[in-house]
Amino acid sequence: MSDIQNMIDELRAFVEERDWGQFHSPENLAKSVAIEAGELLECFQWSGEGDREHIAEEAADVLSYLLQFFDKTGIDPVEAFESKMRKNREKYPVELARGSTVKYDRLLKKRG
Ligand SMILES: [Mg+2]
Repeated sequence: MSDIQNMIDELRAFVEERDWGQFHSPENLAKSVAIEAGELLECFQWSGEGDREHIAEEAADVLSYLLQFFDKTGIDPVEAFESKMRKNREKYPVELARGSTVKYDRLLKKRG
């Protein structure tokens, strides 16, 4: 079994033991991803360097809610990732995007 599925199973058990599934609508989980991403960003609020342990904890919170979102919605995280990476490769061809921060819509106009 994949590491991702093991993490999802562990999260599912954690939530079931506490009867928290009733609070975990896709909307609430999506909000929680954003809230935890804000907490991750807060680590860098007043300086470019945050406390590594705190950063790791907040990144893990983002990942936990994101995995629960995938589980709740029945979206396969590996398939979603691979599909999006295929699209990203098309949107950002190496020959146009390498070393550039230009967004894909402007980048592809350059190619015509
Ligand atoms: Mg947190």
